[in-house]
Amino acid sequence: MAHVVVIGLGLIGGSLARDLRRGGHRVTACGRDAARLAPAVELGIVDAVEADWQLAVASAEVVVLGVPVGRTREVYARIHPHLAPGAVVTDVGSTKGSVVRELKSLCGQLPAHFVPGHPIAGTERSGFAASVEGLFAGRTVVLTPTADTDPAATARVTALWQEVGARVLTLTPEQHDAGLALTSHLPQMLAYTLMGQFAEAQGTTLAPLIGSGFRAMTRLAGSDPVMWRDVSLANRAQLSLTLRRYMERLGELAAAVDTGDAARLEKLFAAAQAAHRHLPPA
Ligand code: NAP
Repeated sequence: MAHVVVIGLGLIGGSLARDLRRGGHRVTACGRDAARLAPAVELGIVDAVEADWQLAVASAEVVVLGVPVGRTREVYARIHPHLAPGAVVTDVGSTKGSVVRELKSLCGQLPAHFVPGHPIAGTERSGFAASVEGLFAGRTVVLTPTADTDPAATARVTALWQEVGARVLTLTPEQHDAGLALTSHLPQMLAYTLMGQFAEAQGTTLAPLIGSGFRAMTRLAGSDPVMWRDVSLANRAQLSLTLRRYMERLGELAAAVDTGDAARLEKLFAAAQAAHRHLPPA
């Protein structure tokens, strides 16, 4: 059993802390304000909260960075001189190319003990109070080690995620970011845009017209804007390509609507329906 330190005890860090603790690991949380984290001990999410990050990581076998992806570099810079020999560090950030680039620029190369990671699991809520047990059971966790990464560190982080029930998939950072731009970041942008258009048109007549489809399509607009600002900028190149392709497709759709092209509309919808039938089960 390991001493695991989670820096950034939010939805993801807190949910992982709960499962690791239930599995017998000793889990310590660090954050910007230790007093604000104190209830996490009473709630049974972690064993302890430590205000001194350097002290906490000095006795950790594993350090998990649960902070917004744009903060990874500064948090790693603060802890890395104090890590114990043999300690492994991983993160949970939603983009991976940016994390690898930033740590390379900080350290010259990706530190051998750093295993970039991203659990494909979550909700639109934030903070440790929103954390839940079992969030990662049956879910995919992507690890993106590079040629600099120590295979033993990757094996250690793989084992940790498997312990909490996740399936581990190893990709390059580029493969991860291109895939997630389509499966996660684009839907997030669509939810914000749709909700924005609704807000712009909001009148007393619209509220009663909301059905379950609108709620399902806009659920993600409840997510933390700061986190998504960071993710959008961190995966800027891939997200931009994906948004542009989507706009092309919307353009095709708008043209079919404008010209009353029933055959084209039916073909577009039927192709999407057929593809939807082949989605893997949730
Ligand atoms: P969250 O609930 O907001 O938790 C993030 C934690 O990071 C906060 O509790 C906060 O802890 C700390 N933090 C915030 N700003 C910081 C700053 N400027 N410097 C240092 N620490 C800071 O967010 P989350 O949803 O768990 O997301 C955490 C990471 O997981 C992000 O990188 C995100 O991309 C990734 N992720 C999210 C989801 C999702 O569905 N939400 C899914 C997969 C991956 P303190 O206030 O105690 O410092």
